[in-house]
Amino acid sequence: MEGFIDTKIGIGISACQFGGRVRYNGKGQDVTRLLGRERSDFIWHPLCPEVMSGMGVPRVPVSLRGGNGDDFWEGRAEVKSREGENLGEWMRKGCASCLDTLARSGVRAFVFMEGSPSCGVYRTSLKNKRLGHPPGIFGSLLLREGFFLIPAQDLQSPIKWWDWRRRLFAFVWLSDQAFAAPSEIVEIWHLLKFLCQEISRAQADEIGRRIADMKSLSNREYPGLKKEILDLLRRPSEVRRIKQALWKHYRFLNKRFGIESEAVRMPDDERGVSKIASELLSLEILTSREGLLFGAVPIHYRRAPSAGEPELDSGGNEEA
Ligand code: SF4
Repeated sequence: MEGFIDTKIGIGISACQFGGRVRYNGKGQDVTRLLGRERSDFIWHPLCPEVMSGMGVPRVPVSLRGGNGDDFWEGRAEVKSREGENLGEWMRKGCASCLDTLARSGVRAFVFMEGSPSCGVYRTSLKNKRLGHPPGIFGSLLLREGFFLIPAQDLQSPIKWWDWRRRLFAFVWLSDQAFAAPSEIVEIWHLLKFLCQEISRAQADEIGRRIADMKSLSNREYPGLKKEILDLLRRPSEVRRIKQALWKHYRFLNKRFGIESEAVRMPDDERGVSKIASELLSLEILTSREGLLFGAVPIHYRRAPSAGEPELDSGGNEEA
């Protein structure tokens, strides 16, 4: 089995992180410009739940009172303006409208602005690195609906974006697999297991044991197993693990297939994360051209080359 994606993935994004000057104070920034040419490999869906609620720009900032976004949806918390106006009904409609737009477009991933009481997922305060009351109101819906969630600031780090991108491709590809026949599940796991092991060895080994003993699984358990793998793919890896995996995969490819890359340096060589990201990218492109499985990046995006452009499967991530 070969794993690749040949259509552009749709990604929702907090509009203020896509260049929209929609924040309460009329500010915004475009984090996607740091992706360079790779930006056009995706279809972006910028949304602002506060603007969609009917609040304009500029507006008074809103805050959550009495709990987090989950509490808001359960009726235990309120959202109020600085002047004390209750904006709960407005926000309910704005969030529902955004979610509806994402569902209609088949979008399964979202780049969110961390620190917002609306779009924040793990933090709802921008002050002094305080956590606030996460998740935010819209962030709560994104979590509940199982979106693949990427913090906007991680697009500014080449290594973090590289990690998010490879897991995003694997997540979207797996979401589209039927995952219905034992032989298909074994093949899928063969493709994804190295990446899953890198994220969590213990959990990947546990999943691998159950797949190796498919006879004892009833087909009613297949959807739960697929969800477990999808949830694992949502979790970020660590730079230390990524670096170890780079060397491990390179040694395997070198020994088994004679692959050589001058870009890949010895594991003990001191270098920054941007350099490691460029080594990974070069190995990813090299293996893709040779049609070999690079376990750290099991699913590739096959971009159709434009006139005069060499055919590449991925890349173009410029330095932040
Ligand atoms: S964080 Fe979300 S709600 Fe706030 S301005 Fe950005 S898109 Fe709008």
